[in-house]
Amino acid sequence: MWLLEYDKALRAVLEKARAAHGPQMVPLTQAFGLLLADDVRSDVDLPPFDRAMMDGFAVKSSDIAIPPVELEVTGRVGAGEERAGLVVEPGCAVEIMTGAPVPRGADAVIQVEKTSGFGRPRVRIDAPVTRGQSISPRAAVLEKSSPVLRAGQRIDVAQTALLAAVGCDPVPVARPLKVAIISTGDEIVPHAKTPGVSQIRDVCGPALAAAVRRVGCLPRPLGIVGDDPKATRDVIARGLACCDVLLLTGGVSAGARDHVAAALFESGVELHFERLAIKPGKPTVFGTRADTLVFGLPGNPVSAMVTFELFVAPACLARMGAAKPLAPVWQARLTQKVRPEKTRTWFLHGRLRGRAVLEVEPVASPNSADIVSSSMGDCLIAVPPGAREIPAGTVLDVIVIRRPSGD
Ligand code: AMP
Ligand code: MG
Repeated sequence: MWLLEYDKALRAVLEKARAAHGPQMVPLTQAFGLLLADDVRSDVDLPPFDRAMMDGFAVKSSDIAIPPVELEVTGRVGAGEERAGLVVEPGCAVEIMTGAPVPRGADAVIQVEKTSGFGRPRVRIDAPVTRGQSISPRAAVLEKSSPVLRAGQRIDVAQTALLAAVGCDPVPVARPLKVAIISTGDEIVPHAKTPGVSQIRDVCGPALAAAVRRVGCLPRPLGIVGDDPKATRDVIARGLACCDVLLLTGGVSAGARDHVAAALFESGVELHFERLAIKPGKPTVFGTRADTLVFGLPGNPVSAMVTFELFVAPACLARMGAAKPLAPVWQARLTQKVRPEKTRTWFLHGRLRGRAVLEVEPVASPNSADIVSSSMGDCLIAVPPGAREIPAGTVLDVIVIRRPSGD
């Protein structure tokens, strides 16, 4: 049977997933995890004035050629105070607080610990002072009107700080996609129930809902449907009616009860691929109906999560206009040999370690249903197909799906 390669499949998905919506405005406090839809520029210089970085004295550095030196204290300026008339004359110093504007005439701030006489009319400077010391000059961090963030960036903690610093509120964000999630299979019961003999809890539904949230989209769980063509078509119709992306799990293999691809086709979904040269995820189905992206993922939860990372996450991010829809790909050295698949790229869970040279330790067993060992991974090792064993020490591409845990 002919199988489509991973890169070609990914290209097909990204091609169909081009950005399709305009931005919407949300309050900054609600913007975390969303994607910025427009470039953001600064409305201020940062800092907005020459700012003292220490509590101490604003001085002329040329006055303190050879310490110790005594200077006359001619004023005081605190954070938030405006002292337009205050000037540091030769031989003089102004008491200053962290965050206060440096008065005219001063070109350095000497920290209080290196002086004696704080609060007195005269101060003794005990240490040498260099020009510019402990001053953050106006616009040193950011110039007014300069770009701060680009459209397509994800709003994380640091980006929230930047948006606050430039007063960007409300924030233009990509409208989060609504993603319908349907689990299929006669044996599947809701996860909160105790499964009977020969039943399985729905693991894919909750796992994919979490994965959808992680890419900043909104999961719309549509429940579990049995292996029945009509029921499958009905729930597909509900999903297509309400959502931007439709995910089904299970029912995509070649078994007699695997109705998903046919049901999608009968529901007017144009199918772009149905079989891939990857492991896990060989029976992954991708299609579109108008603007809606549709994925049929394997029912095995590990396979569903891997194919989500490989195709669904990039598709959702690309559709929302992400600057970088793909997870980072790093190179890492295998810590142990692996036996590749003959004809399919194997996306094997691994754990990254090391600092100077990244190493990657495979953690998953060849059993793709092993949800426990795969959960310990933070990356997918792309093991290229081939007949020969790949020795320890070989450098391979790894797709980073979580930040390395640091241990
Ligand atoms: P399928 O893709 O329908 O052939 O399912 C492959 C395997 O995954 C079977 O052992 C199913 O019982 C199991 N499976 C299917 N859907 C789910 C699900 N939602 N949660 C947990 N396991 C599932
Ligand atoms: Mg099934």
